[in-house]
Amino acid sequence: MLVTDPDGPRVLLVEDDRQLAEMVSMLLVEEGYRVEMARDGQQGLHQGLTGEFEVMIIDRGLPVLEGLDLLRTLRERAVQTPALILTARGALMDRVEGLDAGAEDYLVKPFEIPELLARIRALHRRHLAASGSLPVGARRLLPATRTVSDPAGVQSEVLLSERECELLTVLARSPRQVFTRTQLLDLVFDRADTVGTVDTYVHYLRRKLGREVIDTVRGLGYRLGSR
Ligand code: CA
Repeated sequence: MLVTDPDGPRVLLVEDDRQLAEMVSMLLVEEGYRVEMARDGQQGLHQGLTGEFEVMIIDRGLPVLEGLDLLRTLRERAVQTPALILTARGALMDRVEGLDAGAEDYLVKPFEIPELLARIRALHRRHLAASGSLPVGARRLLPATRTVSDPAGVQSEVLLSERECELLTVLARSPRQVFTRTQLLDLVFDRADTVGTVDTYVHYLRRKLGREVIDTVRGLGYRLGSR
C-alpha cells in the first residue's frame, strides 16, 4: 500500500474523470506528492482558495464551473500557484485561451505520464522560486507555517490555527477587497457554519494580532487592515 509523504509537495487535482483522476493521483503519490482531488469546478475553487498548494492540475472541461473560469477566478483572487491545464482539445486557440486565463502550462489529452510528471516537476520548481509570504500591514503572513512575524524577527512570531490562517490568507491575498461575511463563510468555512463563525474568527485574529489587523466595513463586511 502507498503511504503519502507527509512533507511532499501539495498538488490540487481538479478532474471530473474519476478513472483518470485516480490514476494520476496514484502516480503523483508514488512520486512523493500529496494530492487533494476535486471533482468539479466549484469544489476546485473552494479548495484552491482555502488550501495551500505548490501546483494545480486543472481539467478544462469540468462540471459546474469550467476549468478556465475556475483558473481565471483564482488568479483574480491573487492565487499565484502555478497551474497546468489538461484538455481534450489541442487547437491553437485553446492554448492561447489557457495561457490568457493564467495557466503556466498546457497538456493535451491523451498524454504520456512521464511528460505529465516532468511538467509538474518544472511547475513545482517555479513555485519554490516564487513562493513566500503575504504582507499583513507591516507584518508578514507565512501560510506554509501559519505564522505572522514582525520584520523585527522571530521573537514576535504569532502562530495561527488552521482556520485563522485560512481566513487571514484570503483577506491578505486581496488586500483592498471588502468581503461580505457570506463570502468569507463560503471561502473558508463549512456549510454547517454560520456567518457568526466568521465574526468569531475575526475576533480570534484581532485578539492575537491586534484590532487593526482586520477592518470592519460597516454594512458591507471585512477587509484586511491597512496598518
Ligand atoms: Ca472533463
